[in-house]
Amino acid sequence: MRDFSTVPVVMLLGPPGAGKGTQAKRLEDHFGLIQLSTGDLLRAAVANGTEAGKAAKSVMEAGNLVSDDIVIAILRDRLGEPDCAAGVILDGFPRTIPQAEALDALLASQNAAVHAAISLEVEDDAMVERISGRHTCGGCGEGYHDTFKPPAIAGKCDKCGSDDFRRRADDNPDTVRHRLVAYHNETAPLIAFYADAGALQTIDAMGEIDAITKTLQQMVAPIIAGVRGPLADQQTTTRKTQMEETQ
Ligand code: AMP
Repeated sequence: MRDFSTVPVVMLLGPPGAGKGTQAKRLEDHFGLIQLSTGDLLRAAVANGTEAGKAAKSVMEAGNLVSDDIVIAILRDRLGEPDCAAGVILDGFPRTIPQAEALDALLASQNAAVHAAISLEVEDDAMVERISGRHTCGGCGEGYHDTFKPPAIAGKCDKCGSDDFRRRADDNPDTVRHRLVAYHNETAPLIAFYADAGALQTIDAMGEIDAITKTLQQMVAPIIAGVRGPLADQQTTTRKTQMEETQ
């Protein structure tokens, strides 16, 4: 059994389109945390044709939630990998109260806990437009949006020049509306769950992406420093330096 007591565990809550994935990636880069996205893990399982992927495929395409058993097992396996000792930023998990309870039990068994559940507050109406226009470069993963962030040259990735753009199968308006219903019915109760646990923080996520990143970093920095202890600054600096050197 691993001891997670000095491992920061931060989670982003919010409906589809709130920016969880984008901001989790930025927190990963900035603080040297590992982004754990159950959506990404499930899409990989679907692509690899695993048993879990086969069970999840049609559920995801319909915009419903995959069963707790499958998602918890996937998350548990990923959390057990050694890189997670750097700290994790949970993106899209938990999405139900039973998932949150399973996470608590899993972390408690490793002497750990959720240190912050940050709720990204957005307006539903804006989410359908936000999600329906988004796509990514298949070459380098850069994110784009038809209205808010088109590539400088149409059809060509700004970063790597690829013309291979991809849209998620579940990013169409009908499925997005379904995903928002699932969020309100099954995931929104987590806000009260983490408020009761004293871990909830909220942030207005309707503004500029960079400004939200900055506020999030200011929120997360003291949490990480508190959990990691006096070496926190040093670890973060080392990680950032390593990343800068490889860029
Ligand atoms: P996401 O990439 O987080 O938007 O997730 C895409 C889809 O994967 C969701 O609409 C669900 O079908 C499924 N999914 C991702 N995470 C979970 C979860 N924690 N619980 C249940 N289903 C999930």
